[in-house]
Amino acid sequence: MTAAAAAREILTSLHEVMASRMHAQGKLDSVVDVIGTSLDSEACSIYLLRDSMLELFATRGLNQSAVHVTRMALGEGLTGTIAANNEMLNLAEAKAHPDFLYRPETGEDKFHSFAGVPIVYRERAVGVLCVQHVDPRRYEEVEIEALQTTAMVLSELIANAELVDEEDASGLSEGLTGTQSLSGLTLVKGLAAGRAVYHQPRVQIEQIMADDIELERQRVYRAFDKMREQIDNMTSQAEFGVGGEHEEVLETYKMFAYDEGWSRRINEAIDSGLTAEAAIERVQQHTRLRMRQIDDPLLADRMHDLEDLANRLVRIVSGQLGTAASQGLRRDTILLARNLGPAELLEYDKRKLKGVILAEGSLTAHVVIVARAMGVPVLGRARGLRGLIRDGDEILLDADQALATVRPSNSMAEAFEDRFAKSRLRRAAYAALRDVEPVTKCGTRIEVMMNAGLRDDMSSLPLTGADGVGLFRTEFQFLVSATLPKREQQTRLYRDVLDAAGDKPVVFRTVDIGGDKAVPYLSSEEAVHDENPAMGWRALRLALEREGLMKIQARSLIEAAGGRTLNVMFPMVSEPWEFDEAKKVFEEQLGFMKRAKKKVPVEIRYGAMLEVPALAEVLDLLLPKLSFLSVGTNDLTQFLFAADRANPKLAERYDWLSAPILRFLQRVERGTHGSGISLGVCGEMGGRRLEALALLGIGIRRLSITPAAIAPIKDLVRQINLDELSAAVEGWLADPAANLRHELTEWAKQRDIEVD
Ligand code: PEP
Ligand code: MG
Repeated sequence: MTAAAAAREILTSLHEVMASRMHAQGKLDSVVDVIGTSLDSEACSIYLLRDSMLELFATRGLNQSAVHVTRMALGEGLTGTIAANNEMLNLAEAKAHPDFLYRPETGEDKFHSFAGVPIVYRERAVGVLCVQHVDPRRYEEVEIEALQTTAMVLSELIANAELVDEEDASGLSEGLTGTQSLSGLTLVKGLAAGRAVYHQPRVQIEQIMADDIELERQRVYRAFDKMREQIDNMTSQAEFGVGGEHEEVLETYKMFAYDEGWSRRINEAIDSGLTAEAAIERVQQHTRLRMRQIDDPLLADRMHDLEDLANRLVRIVSGQLGTAASQGLRRDTILLARNLGPAELLEYDKRKLKGVILAEGSLTAHVVIVARAMGVPVLGRARGLRGLIRDGDEILLDADQALATVRPSNSMAEAFEDRFAKSRLRRAAYAALRDVEPVTKCGTRIEVMMNAGLRDDMSSLPLTGADGVGLFRTEFQFLVSATLPKREQQTRLYRDVLDAAGDKPVVFRTVDIGGDKAVPYLSSEEAVHDENPAMGWRALRLALEREGLMKIQARSLIEAAGGRTLNVMFPMVSEPWEFDEAKKVFEEQLGFMKRAKKKVPVEIRYGAMLEVPALAEVLDLLLPKLSFLSVGTNDLTQFLFAADRANPKLAERYDWLSAPILRFLQRVERGTHGSGISLGVCGEMGGRRLEALALLGIGIRRLSITPAAIAPIKDLVRQINLDELSAAVEGWLADPAANLRHELTEWAKQRDIEVD
């Protein structure tokens, strides 16, 4: 029997049970029998949420005396874990699971294997359906799918029979009154205040079992057509018309929209007897569960795109097209969603959309890239939104501090408004510095450049008045793309960036992918699992061995910079020969272009990043080859201290202002004397005022920093006297304390220089 036929058989039996005149308890008792028999399982049980506890409502195989007696809190035991995490479990040996909890009254000690799925109603787990087996075996995929389908049917029964308290189902329990604070991850910085609006992409599915399979199939076909048409049309929408990252997003959308596998699986689910809506949701639930088991942030981001499309498809098929966007925002809004597709975000009125809180989300998610371009602060990874926030609640979003306050007290709202006003004032004051040159009191011009990585970032150049782009992280284009960016796409991006920069220089750093910045399209054999990704096969190491990748990038850059100066910088150079090899790739492409009589750059300036300490020992050999050198303090400090920069436990352990780092930088700076090579710093360190003071004191005269830091650093530069600062730093470093934080702070305080 095929999987679809088996599923259909189960659905037919469930249909009979549901259509019968039995009362709800009788139906639950019959359901456990149907499932237990079909999955050849000795035990099958249904737990439902009552008074915030999971209660055994029906069972076959466990002691009947345990029904309505065995109760578990959310998060307690395997069942509680499934409901709390909204996640399935499939275990050959239940007892081996750390959350296993033995309940003697159930008599379950004879069972070994265990599989359970959440019963979801209005996006919340309101119960658990599980099966148990005497033999230790994992359940097959088709069996898990059958469980998931049954759980959907049960959620319909639960809704109709009001088996679950409305309180439990809607989350209207204790958590929804009084002030609550919510923490997460800063995805886009900023402050915002407004009323909560749920994006509500999920349609309430009214009917799960199909009356007419052929009709459902036609509905889904038509919905697919319509969705594809919508996606194709998006290209012409203003927001998507600008190209760049948005184009990549659309390409991912198209890839999914035309994915045969996806439509086939939905059709199979319809074959098993589900309505079109239920079939789409079934397939999506299953994909979600499988994706959760794959711990890959990039794949997770793509998953959000697929969720976006699946939700679009359900809305089309059910005719319930309204998201909060289509109803229109009536007031200042903080939008809440589990996750959001970029296209969905763009449907909102920008004047009213003040902030976004996502339960998921990551820095490389497409929606975050779009939000950044829209200037909307985003807090991500905020768990338990539904349990804490009601539609219309007042929210103060402080994405700078990765916090949100729900239903704030008056004093909280006032304090927030105060901060908000100050930040607006500060921004206005900084905006006034746009055309002011960063010249020190003693008359030295400091170069203050900005770091960028996306086409949209370039709008910050005229806004901040930065001297140029000191670090353009070209790998961003690779990271947000589902496939390796083609040469034409790369050329277009680089040309747009150069056009946007006008007369100002842009330093393109060649791709720094590999290691932890994994891209899905590196073949599995190449994407070897690095034990130590930061020190692994990444950046130039990878690019030199994947010559095709480097060649295409070189050609794209040379082509884009035709008739202008091209500044290229190589990341993670560890020995001078690596620089030579990388330069050779560029020179070969240049030769090729010249022979083909193509327009080439008037000059190519080659630079290196100093991120690997070893390079400092051979600086004298490298410098004559370079046009410029830039210290990547993010990587350099992790290597100097042997402390992973991504490890939160080490994040505050070592200080940028520590003697080893500053002495190292001082030595590098001295090493460049007489070489005529200009030395810059392009790590995050340079964007913080106290750290920038130290760098200037050491002799660094070029900083490339995040756009938001340009004005604060210009402001700092204009308040210092370099002779005085250098003398002080030199003195401290000759006989250093563990770090110079205290000394520098005092020095600044005595001169009324704010350094926070
Ligand atoms: C650095 O390492 O300091 C740097 C600027 O590069 P990235 O942060 O992209 O590794
Ligand atoms: Mg680096």
